[in-house]
Amino acid sequence: KGTTSPLSVPPRKPQPWVQVVGHAGSFHAGDNGMLLKQHTEGERLCLQRLMEDSLRPYVPGYHGVVRRSDHDYNMMDDLLAHFSCPAIMDCKMGTRTYLEEDLAKARERPQPRHDMYEKMVDVDPGAPTDEENAMQAVLKTRYMQWRETLSSTTTMGFRIEGIKMADGVCNTNFKRTKSREQVMQALKDFVGPNARIMNGYLRRLKELRLVLESSDFFRTHEVVGSSLLFVHDDTGKAGVWMIDFGRTVALPPPLTLDHRTPWVEGNREDGYLWGLDNLIDVLSDMLPL
Ligand code: ATP
Ligand code: MG
Ligand code: MG
Repeated sequence: KGTTSPLSVPPRKPQPWVQVVGHAGSFHAGDNGMLLKQHTEGERLCLQRLMEDSLRPYVPGYHGVVRRSDHDYNMMDDLLAHFSCPAIMDCKMGTRTYLEEDLAKARERPQPRHDMYEKMVDVDPGAPTDEENAMQAVLKTRYMQWRETLSSTTTMGFRIEGIKMADGVCNTNFKRTKSREQVMQALKDFVGPNARIMNGYLRRLKELRLVLESSDFFRTHEVVGSSLLFVHDDTGKAGVWMIDFGRTVALPPPLTLDHRTPWVEGNREDGYLWGLDNLIDVLSDMLPL
């Protein structure tokens, strides 16, 4: 090591793993292109089952639970490992990002929440009803459902959570990115003018849709708060993977979902495929670049 002959290309430095959104403390870069995410049993069960499912090529490879300085982690492939200076987007799928059981829990002891009322007023002073204004409080269930209507989650079945560009500039300020035009502009900024990358993303998303439509895992799980992670770099390489199964739960048999039927409480539908349809539609509308 040390000297490089004038004709040889210096070896590429290993790329550091970078995180777009989520809780910063819950990840550690592992060795050899591995990523450690704070263990939860629900996510472990999902990742383990996914390794046996037709969706396997669309999720990070899973390597079991490991223990590091008194904490358990799910060990998985770092999806950025084969990219150089990648641009990354986290897109949260589905028409709701809370579970039906979260609603049920919030209803058990309905408490008027002043803190949630204040958060609501901060974003939109016109959002609380007269009654809520009189109480200076809102119920948690009401807050959860209102929050989803700010972004494109309810109207399009997905929302952009965060984008990190190749130069390292990160934007997680998409909480009010809602209209089709706003979403399209953000996607345009992310993909850039490279048709190869755009076509790569579209091809991959359409493949994923086909696989989702026949996956046993997908049919039998309520998939909430899960994201599609988009990754590309300036070599023209582009990939999309499903990540974050912390709030994905198995349905009681024989219940199954089609992930397109609109949600009404009790049917457990999550709008995941409806959102993917819309995402593919918006990206297709951006062509030709
Ligand atoms: P939240 O529940 O708030 O969405 P979380 O703590 O469950 O977040 P994830 O959503 O799983 O965390 O991941 C957060 C971020 O970490 C992603 O947006 C992505 O940038 C990065 N990340 C997660 N898994 C991987 C992976 N396998 N390879 C590369 N990057 C990843
Ligand atoms: Mg996430
Ligand atoms: Mg999560």
